[in-house]
Amino acid sequence: MRFDVVTLFPELFAPFLTTGITRRAYSSGAVDVHLFNPRDVATGNYRRVDDRTFGGGPGMVMMPEPLAKTLEVIATERGYTAKVVLFSPVGQRLNHDLVQKWANSDGAILICGRYEGVDQRFVDAHVDEQISIGDFVLSGGELPAMALLDAVARLQPDILGDADSHHFDSFNPALDGLLDCPHYTRPEEWAGQAVPEVLLSGHHVNIARWRREQQLRLTSRYRPDLILAARAAGRLSPKDEALLKSLL
Ligand code: SAH
Repeated sequence: MRFDVVTLFPELFAPFLTTGITRRAYSSGAVDVHLFNPRDVATGNYRRVDDRTFGGGPGMVMMPEPLAKTLEVIATERGYTAKVVLFSPVGQRLNHDLVQKWANSDGAILICGRYEGVDQRFVDAHVDEQISIGDFVLSGGELPAMALLDAVARLQPDILGDADSHHFDSFNPALDGLLDCPHYTRPEEWAGQAVPEVLLSGHHVNIARWRREQQLRLTSRYRPDLILAARAAGRLSPKDEALLKSLL
């Protein structure tokens, strides 16, 4: 899959794309990321990409023409059409289902806004979908783009060390949409606190049962909405329900 990222700050992506477990997804081309700076196609002495907002008020707005021209460059390079996604507080909130959708796709063109945002005429003419990463405002769409690219890369086969380990992550349908259980490592005792004994027992059935209990406990405490969703989807067993009842 190919993601074309349109950003005024492509340099922000270099360390992200070359660090950590997801690096392999980007370097192997499994998640092929290309960066485009609208400034490269902007005209005039100053290669302007932003201008004052009509109607007055503070801040600048990204001009539509350099963005539209960048889409033309991408279309030529890419050779096939792709959905155009704009990161914006207006958009649909990013969650596991949306990440999974893009993880199964051919990719997309990701537009990172800056300043007060993007001229609405560009949005109306070219943007297919808008994505928000939460009810707060960032200075640019680059962090949201990285959030999406990272989450998509994690879901690619053979990217995480253990081929299936994303199945054990929070929100994953393989975990019935629950939160992950707590994790412990060495030493067995730290600052007066011991690791739960069952984890040292080597008894796989008991460990699996303990983890399921912890997932249910954590989820019911911190995200009861996810318990309701799992129940509505028929994902909770009678044993799960009995445990949840004992927590009340
Ligand atoms: N004036 C806008 C905010 C602009 S912030 C408003 O009040 O809604 C500049 C850019 O950062 C936006 O164009 C968008 O691309 C990005 N951005 C900011 N917050 C975001 C969020 N919560 N989710 C996704 N993108 C966001």
